Amino acid sequence: MLVVACIKQVPDTTQVQIDPVTNTLVREGIPFIVNPYDTHALEEALYFKDQFGFRVAAISMGPPNAEATLRKALALGVDDAILLSDRCFGGADTLATSNVLSAAILRLNQQEEVGVVLCGKQTIDGDTAQVGPGIATRLGYTQLTLVDRIESLDPVKKTIRVRRKLEGRYEIVEAPLPVMLTVVRELNRPRYPTVPMRIDSADAQVQVWDNTVLGLDVNSCGLKGSPTWVSRIFSPERDKGEIIGDGFGDPVGTAKLLIHKLLSKDLLHA
Ligand SMILES: Cc1cc2nc3c(=O)[nH]c(=O)nc-3n(C[C@H](O)[C@H](O)[C@H](O)COP(=O)(O)OP(=O)(O)OC[C@H]3O[C@@H](n4cnc5c(N)ncnc54)[C@H](O)[C@@H]3O)c2cc1C
Repeated sequence: MLVVACIKQVPDTTQVQIDPVTNTLVREGIPFIVNPYDTHALEEALYFKDQFGFRVAAISMGPPNAEATLRKALALGVDDAILLSDRCFGGADTLATSNVLSAAILRLNQQEEVGVVLCGKQTIDGDTAQVGPGIATRLGYTQLTLVDRIESLDPVKKTIRVRRKLEGRYEIVEAPLPVMLTVVRELNRPRYPTVPMRIDSADAQVQVWDNTVLGLDVNSCGLKGSPTWVSRIFSPERDKGEIIGDGFGDPVGTAKLLIHKLLSKDLLHA
């Protein structure tokens, strides 16, 4: 059985800045990292490999430099690392991204039966949390989102039981394979690559699948296949901090001052 981990290369957002003139992300000189949630997806895929002997494939859609992300996955022990990269995949929204990733998973399924697809809960750049469910919908897989614990997986019966972390409660759900899981940080603690594995991975091959491999209609991927677009991107304006009253000595008076201030700015009626 094959487990597929979807991993995305993202800018290290603690250092991202927005060009105030063009309103676009300043990407030059910014280091890229594996989306943090995806490191947990990858770790769980590798745990399944250790536990059940499943084969693991890591896939990523992105520009050629996203190969570095997949090389990290190879260093951790994935069997196949596949970069989905083609000019016609560029400018994709979440719908078009899900189309490309689903097509790759379908293709992998022709080689070996896919049992589990693992995605992060969301990315730290796009942040939509739509791609995992988009993949599940396109492939007709059961989707189990916000998974924080795998209760059990039965490869013979082909079922999985997971715990979902919801607001103020947990939910235990069992589903037949194949499934698509989106995972949260609490699921596991990602492993680090050992030095020998890093060295081995330097020579390991990251496969590159372009659209001649996937054979998608160009109108279903990239900018052409994206019904949504970013009309404007900007940093929120910040007013300089202002000390209002003495919150320790006079909490009631300070609260009144604050309410007066907010009302005078008409913020509470906005
Ligand atoms: C019109 C438009 C144009 C855009 N153009 C660009 C562009 O040119 N370049 C650009 O970088 N972004 C672009 N984006 C952003 C792009 O839509 C998102 O990066 C992408 O669709 C993923 O969405 P997300 O980051 O919200 O992922 P989420 O839905 O939050 O991700 C959930 C999970 O899905 C998986 N996943 C998501 N994306 C990938 C991926 N690419 N590969 C593997 N797994 C993945 C990961 O496991 C991730 O944790 C554009 C968006 C729009 C609307």
